[in-house]
Amino acid sequence: LTFLGLESSCDDTGAAVVRHTDGEIPQVLSNVVEGQTALHASFGGVVPEIAARAHAERMDDCVERALDQAGVTLADIDGIAVTAGPGLIGGVLSGVMCAKGISAGSGKPLIGVNHLAGHALSPGLSEELHFPMLMLLVSGGHCQFLIVRGVEEFHRLGGTIDDAPGEAFDKIARLTGLPQPGGPAVEQAALEGDAKRFPLPRPLLDRPGCDMSFSGLKTAVLRARDTVITNENTLARQDVNDLAAGFQKSVCEVLKEKTRRAVAVYLEETPDVPTLAVAGGVAANKAIRIALETVCAESDLRFTAPAMQYCTDNAAMIAWAGLLRYRLGAKDDLTLSARPRWPLDKIQAGMLGSGK
Ligand code: ATP
Ligand code: FE
Repeated sequence: LTFLGLESSCDDTGAAVVRHTDGEIPQVLSNVVEGQTALHASFGGVVPEIAARAHAERMDDCVERALDQAGVTLADIDGIAVTAGPGLIGGVLSGVMCAKGISAGSGKPLIGVNHLAGHALSPGLSEELHFPMLMLLVSGGHCQFLIVRGVEEFHRLGGTIDDAPGEAFDKIARLTGLPQPGGPAVEQAALEGDAKRFPLPRPLLDRPGCDMSFSGLKTAVLRARDTVITNENTLARQDVNDLAAGFQKSVCEVLKEKTRRAVAVYLEETPDVPTLAVAGGVAANKAIRIALETVCAESDLRFTAPAMQYCTDNAAMIAWAGLLRYRLGAKDDLTLSARPRWPLDKIQAGMLGSGK
């Protein structure tokens, strides 16, 4: 099967072509991503209206390039997968409209994909997935533990009760004068920092369960920053590095301990191939990967994570998730709607078509 995927749920416009033969590792024939960081830079965050307009303007070109780079035409495509939510509604609509147009014009099947399912299945672009697997989905807008029992079966064990780590990384970058997206910049700064210099909290570790909180940690970093910021509103390079290191360390410690708890619940299911997977933009963070690998070593779990280019938003993971859904018999039609919210454990509603 060969699938075209479209992604436009936040600030990356993506189109990709993925080919898969049953039982083999999929081939990503192309994966075009047009970021919008520069468009939003002066606003201190993603502006939904600007994002939606940029997606609408760029998607056709991204699709053309994805087909070109893959060396295929629409005639070679078996289906069109598109992110139908959750995300910024204007952006999601641009993608869904474009996919409907291509589907109507070519007669090829249309498959709506949950963006989070795209992230959750993204490790499968590089290696065979064994269900059930335990997944930490950690991104710009989400942070949750899931038992992934199949392509469309997700069981949530717990997650953040406020902010996601990705938005916390972005916020810390803004507080310390580092560029956006904050994740890679903070990770880089942390390499040269002393994580012990500023005492920062490890939120919710004293409470049982897998729920997490990152909003208080952000505030704590802000207060720590205010103890060292100069009257001219500047920070020394070392202060920035130490704040970044302290923040990242705290996130790692929280994720590590909460993962241990999620592992305990997961292992009650006696999975055939016990696996911990991490996915989403924050899964690109090496310190976090190492923290999770430590937990895996303790409990004899396999560790799997997507290749770096499939951590942050991309259309290859959407094409892949759509292809897998299609193989299970899923198919949408022109009534497919864009949804701003779409929790993973309600994903099967997507199979009913319009999904309102
Ligand atoms: P969601 O998937 O929840 O809807 P999103 O699509 O905006 O949100 P992603 O594209 O999956 O989020 O991830 C983007 C986030 O990942 C950003 O917040 C970014 O700072 C963060 N990120 C990217 N690279 C790293 C890194 N190396 N370390 C930490 N965070 C990172
Ligand atoms: Fe995402």
